Amino acid sequence: MTEAAYDTDNIFAKILRGEIPSQRVYEDEAVVAFMDVMPQGPGHTLVVPKASSRNLLDADPSIFGHLLSVVQKVALAVKKAFGADGVTVMQFNEPASGQTVYHLHVHVIPRFEGIPLKPHTGQMEKPEVLAENAEKIRTALQS
Ligand code: 5GP
Repeated sequence: MTEAAYDTDNIFAKILRGEIPSQRVYEDEAVVAFMDVMPQGPGHTLVVPKASSRNLLDADPSIFGHLLSVVQKVALAVKKAFGADGVTVMQFNEPASGQTVYHLHVHVIPRFEGIPLKPHTGQMEKPEVLAENAEKIRTALQS
């Protein structure tokens, strides 16, 4: 089956262009990381390449090395920032898999023994909580 084309007006493209606000915790020439507004746990962060692709399936493989190195950096930072026991890294491709925003992104979620993930795209978090959590991650990224 042929997949749909990349939509330049998807929500993450708008965030990358600065047209919609986000709580950014990391940015370099190729990748941005910001807080998920409907977190599945405290500190749920999205790592997003600036290059346009719907998901992993149509991405230029040359971006993966650097993308994954940023995922590791952010995973270590969220683990430290929240004193987590582990970190879940997830990535969805096309609607059948659960993907809801069609610009490649990787979910990085701190995990705690015995505490399940909240539902995917469940409840919106308060902006002040997202801001507080983002600051914790920025601090952990700097140390
Ligand atoms: P997907 O379902 O495509 O893997 O993940 C999309 C993620 O983006 C979801 O976890 C959802 O909560 C998050 N999300 C949806 N809209 C926005 C938004 O406007 N800003 C931010 N920061 N996250 C969003």
